[in-house]
Amino acid sequence: MNKKIGIIIELEKGKIKESNFGMITLARAKDTELFAIVINADTGALKEDLSSFGITKIIDVSLSCDQQNNPAAMASAIIHIIRVYHFSIIFGLSTAKGKDLLPRIAALVEAPLVMDCFHVDLDKNLAKTSQYSGKTIATIKATGDILVFGIRPNAVESVKEPALADILVFDGSTIVSKGFRVLKTGDADEKSDISLAEAEVILAGGRGMKNGENFAILFDCAKKMNAVVGASRVAVDSGWVPYSMQVGQTGEKVSPKVYIACGISGSIQHFAGMKTSGMVIAINTEETASIMSNCDYFVVADVMDIIPEVTKLLKNG
Ligand SMILES: Cc1cc2nc3c(=O)[nH]c(=O)nc-3n(C[C@H](O)[C@H](O)[C@H](O)COP(=O)(O)OP(=O)(O)OC[C@H]3O[C@@H](n4cnc5c(N)ncnc54)[C@H](O)[C@@H]3O)c2cc1C
Repeated sequence: MNKKIGIIIELEKGKIKESNFGMITLARAKDTELFAIVINADTGALKEDLSSFGITKIIDVSLSCDQQNNPAAMASAIIHIIRVYHFSIIFGLSTAKGKDLLPRIAALVEAPLVMDCFHVDLDKNLAKTSQYSGKTIATIKATGDILVFGIRPNAVESVKEPALADILVFDGSTIVSKGFRVLKTGDADEKSDISLAEAEVILAGGRGMKNGENFAILFDCAKKMNAVVGASRVAVDSGWVPYSMQVGQTGEKVSPKVYIACGISGSIQHFAGMKTSGMVIAINTEETASIMSNCDYFVVADVMDIIPEVTKLLKNG
């Protein structure tokens, strides 16, 4: 019998985040039937994209307006759906939203949960995830009737496989979460339309940026190369940039194609968040900084000299 997999689709301003497609690709193993769970969105407009990656059923969930960003209400709706469609596996992204939602679902259905997976073998229910700040890779066997996996964004390359999805409607408008109310939502970083987890190129600044104002040169350059700006914890703790920009063990885990570390020494905790990047380029005044021996290319220079020069070159085409 086919394994039914419910995949929680994460949206950004009504659009499907690119990293969902890698997650769907990972779920597309032998003998699996893929259901996309989409909350409060125009599923008709998303159907073509979801179908093109092998989704055969889209569950269109509607929550009332005041509950749509409430992770407790979302979790309630999803557990109803799990019971109706008899899912044995739930996939969601290991993003900030996923970290809020997936543990709630796992707790409510008493399922094992493995977060931040970069691979899941659905034949054997084995998930791979990094532990101890990325020093070891754990292979975890999940057992139970329902298993919940959080998938690291961009860890799996998306590959198309056309299918034709039907839309099934789930009315969750009467679901109200007790004891949990969302008062306000908004973008922590309105400077970029792309999230850190989604970015193909990240320009990240650390203590070497010296202050918050100097981050302007990174934003300028990022705009020219369609990159997103990230930061080390020092830059966040110093109040230079918001927490949503932090990369690392206690920040966002990212897997861009290119990661450019500007004035970042390369601590274990920082590496824990970006070591799966395709290519790492470091700009640092110290050749002995640990990032210099753990990157693909480095430039021994002052970031304040190099970045404006790169921006100028990009401006000139
Ligand atoms: C439990 C725990 C969790 C943590 N989680 C995280 C996390 O999620 N993310 C994270 O980043 N850190 C985290 N940290 C902190 C981490 O240990 C480091 O302190 C931090 O990553 C260092 O940040 P940095 O590289 O910006 O600063 P530093 O280590 O001070 O490095 C600054 C670098 O900038 C270079 N530099 C200085 N001036 C210039 C210039 N003008 N041009 C170019 N280069 C220059 C210096 O040579 C140096 O290499 C955590 C720590 C703990 C204990």
